[in-house]
Amino acid sequence: MKLVLLGPPGAGKGTLSGNLVKELGFLHLSAGDMLRSEMKKGSEIGKKAKSFVESGTLVPDDLIIDMMINVLDGEDNKVGIILDGFPRTVAQAEALDKKMKPDLAVNISTPYDIIIKRLSGRLLCKNCGAIYNTMSYDKDTCEKCGGELYQRDDDKPETVANRLKVYEEQSKPLIDYYKNQGILNELDGSKDSKVLVGEFKKIMEMYK
Ligand code: ADP
Repeated sequence: MKLVLLGPPGAGKGTLSGNLVKELGFLHLSAGDMLRSEMKKGSEIGKKAKSFVESGTLVPDDLIIDMMINVLDGEDNKVGIILDGFPRTVAQAEALDKKMKPDLAVNISTPYDIIIKRLSGRLLCKNCGAIYNTMSYDKDTCEKCGGELYQRDDDKPETVANRLKVYEEQSKPLIDYYKNQGILNELDGSKDSKVLVGEFKKIMEMYK
């Protein structure tokens, strides 16, 4: 199964993906994680993406399309592939359709007041990328691998506001794009992450 996850930043796409990897054996491909790793390495892609990521705007379509299409070339997984954070524009969705048509798109809708609270408390593990929140986790190291936790620069309030605006203008149209293809499903991102896994499994059953 090829799954596209849609939803504003902080909707819980990464958290749901982590649970699906753990419980069902999905392969998780996160555009944001890949960009952060390229930036850390200081690669050509990372250098080109840096200023966009840091200001909370989208990196240019051709850059992200090349990166993701390259990654998809080498990936296969029997259970399924989760695309998280790609596509984020209609042009990206069209490029993906040409390469690998998704079977299912799930939109995680979440009210902005919840998103802002979540992003301001979000912490990531420097080592394995696991996601935590200061609202529910009070240690400063990762419980999975012991790595140090940090706050993403683009989770600062000014940048969050910009990311939400970018989402509204450029990524929200994808909801209609996949609705028109007849593969769109909705999840309520304000629910507990464990509940969402259960609801996702029910959606998946319908597409088997
Ligand atoms: P979130 O979903 O919390 O906004 P991500 O980690 O998915 O965060 O993305 C972080 C940043 O990486 C985005 O704000 C954007 O600059 C860049 N990015 C990620 N995916 C894409 C994409 N598909 N197209 C363009 N830019 C992207």
